[in-house]
Amino acid sequence: MTDKLMVVIPCYNEEEVLPETARRLTEKMAALTQRGLIAPESRVLLVDDGSRDRTWELIEGLHKQNPLFEGVKLSRNRGHQNALLAGLMTARNGFDVSISMDADLQDDMDAMDRFLEKYREGCEVVYGVRRKRDTDTAFKRGTALMFYRLMRALGVDITFNHADYRLMSNRALDALSEFGEVNLFLRGLAPLVGFQSDTVVYDRSERFAGESKYPFKKMLAFAIDGITSFSVKPLRLITTVGLVIFVVSMLMLLYTLVRWAAGHTVTGWTSTLASIWMIGGIQLLSLGVIGEYVGKIYNETKRRPRFIIDRYLNQRGDPPVTDRA
Ligand code: UDP
Ligand code: MG
Repeated sequence: MTDKLMVVIPCYNEEEVLPETARRLTEKMAALTQRGLIAPESRVLLVDDGSRDRTWELIEGLHKQNPLFEGVKLSRNRGHQNALLAGLMTARNGFDVSISMDADLQDDMDAMDRFLEKYREGCEVVYGVRRKRDTDTAFKRGTALMFYRLMRALGVDITFNHADYRLMSNRALDALSEFGEVNLFLRGLAPLVGFQSDTVVYDRSERFAGESKYPFKKMLAFAIDGITSFSVKPLRLITTVGLVIFVVSMLMLLYTLVRWAAGHTVTGWTSTLASIWMIGGIQLLSLGVIGEYVGKIYNETKRRPRFIIDRYLNQRGDPPVTDRA
């Protein structure tokens, strides 16, 4: 028996690429069905993340024309990770396996065959890994590399150059649903879910049309979220810095006492000012880092829903899922 696949695609203002994405997906899904890798009841779920353009109208049109396409409309824009989660949680009902990918055709669809072969071999999670990033700007490549290095250094288990192009089995999705955190960083959570996993290497191409929905500011916020959601090492670093400053200040005290005993009481204006600024700076920075974690706790304790689904277009008449159902 072949398995039912749900391809989950978050879409935010993607009217320019959606028709082409839909066309290629129709072909791909037909080919996969023909190869016997997926069941004919497999579907593509387009998640509209509160778009301001005609994305939802396009999704409605696609659903009407072809039952292959299902649509979920979020009640408002909640960001890529939340939209993806909403889609994946919808896929838990009645589907055996899910593949998440971006709407902009940057992820090579032909890698899906290999994803599904790995799944056949028993993998519950398959990570799509970019071979090279020469379609990205040097800046994006550089910052991404720094980010992955930093994450690794902080002890976070993360797959290098893996974005959110990923296969997850129904079992893995059930496990994922047990993670209740509001600060979502799915590519860090997937390894925590565990199970047998593997990677598939693919070439990432350029965005087909439209512009990136991840400007530098969002990327930076995403990176900080990723780090503070998965590692408390920055807090330990503060303790270490505090300790070092304490030791240095003791040495300074000793030095001034010795100078005083020797009768040299000329006051050093430069050293006083320098140390005030330096310690003040370190203190503020440390407060900021601690504040980052306090903010996380604040958001987690409220346990607000991570997504609210307005509508779910499907032919089975399934109702929209709710978060933490
Ligand atoms: N996206 C979303 N909500 C947002 C921002 C982005 O659902 O608030 C979707 C977007 O439509 C796309 C995917 O997330 O399918 C990745 O975004 P994008 O391609 O702009 O990011 P990049 O590839 O530049 O990192
Ligand atoms: Mg993209």
